[in-house]
Amino acid sequence: MKVLKFGGTSVGSAKNILKVIEIVKTESLSENVTVVVSAIGGITDKLLAAAGKAIEKNKNYKEDFESLRLKHIEVIDGLLSGEAHETTLDIVLNHLSKLEKILDGIYLINELSPKTTDKLLSFGELLSSLIIYETMKLHDLNIQLKNSQNLIVTDSNFTNAVVNFSETNENIVTYFGSNDKIITILPGFISKSELGEITTLGRGGSDYTAAIIAAAMNASVLQIWTDVSGMFTSNPKTVKNAKPIKKLSYLEAIELSHFGAKVLYPPTVLPVLSKHIPLLIKNTLAPEDEGTLITHVVENRNPNPIKGISNINSVSLLTLQGNGMVGIPGFSKRLFETLAREKINVIIATQASSEHSICIGIADKESTLAKSVIDKEFENEISLFKIDPLVVETNLSIIAVVGDQMKSHQGISGKMFSTLGRNNVNIRAIAQGASERNISAIIDESDVKKALNCLHERFFESETKQINLFISGVGNVGKSLINQIEQQKKYIKSTLNIKLKVIGLSNSKKMVLDKSGINLKDWNSILNNGDKSDPIGFFEATNL
Ligand code: ASP
Ligand code: MG
Repeated sequence: MKVLKFGGTSVGSAKNILKVIEIVKTESLSENVTVVVSAIGGITDKLLAAAGKAIEKNKNYKEDFESLRLKHIEVIDGLLSGEAHETTLDIVLNHLSKLEKILDGIYLINELSPKTTDKLLSFGELLSSLIIYETMKLHDLNIQLKNSQNLIVTDSNFTNAVVNFSETNENIVTYFGSNDKIITILPGFISKSELGEITTLGRGGSDYTAAIIAAAMNASVLQIWTDVSGMFTSNPKTVKNAKPIKKLSYLEAIELSHFGAKVLYPPTVLPVLSKHIPLLIKNTLAPEDEGTLITHVVENRNPNPIKGISNINSVSLLTLQGNGMVGIPGFSKRLFETLAREKINVIIATQASSEHSICIGIADKESTLAKSVIDKEFENEISLFKIDPLVVETNLSIIAVVGDQMKSHQGISGKMFSTLGRNNVNIRAIAQGASERNISAIIDESDVKKALNCLHERFFESETKQINLFISGVGNVGKSLINQIEQQKKYIKSTLNIKLKVIGLSNSKKMVLDKSGINLKDWNSILNNGDKSDPIGFFEATNL
């Protein structure tokens, strides 16, 4: 079985849903297919916005409701006609009026519990899966609709429910074991608690639904269909030469997505990682694009050990320093505990071996709180001048180069920092994990664009290596070699990123040296018109 998940944009309009149907048709030729869909693009946000207004007694929630009602009608009108149109519209309008009543209720009582939020949000995926199911039926697909709430069982932690895997997996295996249709469509994101209440799996939860089903069924692949052609070598909005990455290992994908590539939210795909199920990221709007394949395989033949360069903006750097810290254990423990107590997430941490200071990167928006709780925690040491009050620098960014194979290549950090230095990017702190899969630097946010672009150019665009060749002897072997180089140099350049340049030729009588490269189409006459052979001079010329 293959599991295909389509995100909000992929099902965001009638036009896109027709693309989805074509993709499902093609994919189902070879294997049974399970299709997991998100709500129609933007609907989850609209539902939350409407609820937010209703709870504040702001009547404009009606406008949000009206716009999402119209959106659903527009999609149905664009996909269905005749009887199918009538019945589907009826069912959807019926659901929408229930939804409207919930919003009215929130408005009336001025209150919105997480439980009601989940009830409200569940409409998004229920409606999208229903509409797409009806359309696929019209297109003669052998399909059934299953409500994932009857498969995925959770606790009652509304809006971010925790899956009960033993029950859920059993439900999934039993259901699919007795099901004879080629295609099964299910709403993503929504689930049910052990007590039968509606729950949801957290924002972006449709990926999670798809991964849970793929893992339970040992699917051959989990395809995540989105609106970009995979994970990119860097953020394409900032780096215009960024390209989709063809292959990544799970760990590389997690590192890259942590640093800003929003295509994948790592926790949601964890179920497939432990089962080594390949993950393919594809673009619904450009299905012919190869996409990004993520597997447990670590590639070791790629000449470029760097897979991507990513960034996190709006970071603050906290520096705790002072002579009283040196050699005394417990400072970092207290520092981290203080942050953990306040649920402040640490993005990056470094400590120099002098132990005189510890630097920690956190989100800008948490820096004021961090400053006050840390200064309070170390109040005593600060008053005794053992350490300084916490230094906070805001508006910074972390940039990171990522790749499994960095550990077996030397000079990458040298290249990274010399490139940044040459471009006047000031580096505030550096961190490299012992896994060597990631080298991170903290820089000013205003330098991010420049830094990403110059690093991208250095690591991905000027990666061609030039090899200068001196060929001595142009008999049978030498001649064939020259001809081979001439024939294959284009291929070698495009596949191996190696530019071969013959800059010296000699035989027993003549020699020629030309740093700009000898034209191999005419090498014979160039050599004949060359200088008198001088083996020692020729040899010395190779010491360029
Ligand atoms: N509709 C939900 C959201 O927008 C779930 C999903 O799309 O994955 O968060
Ligand atoms: Mg979504």
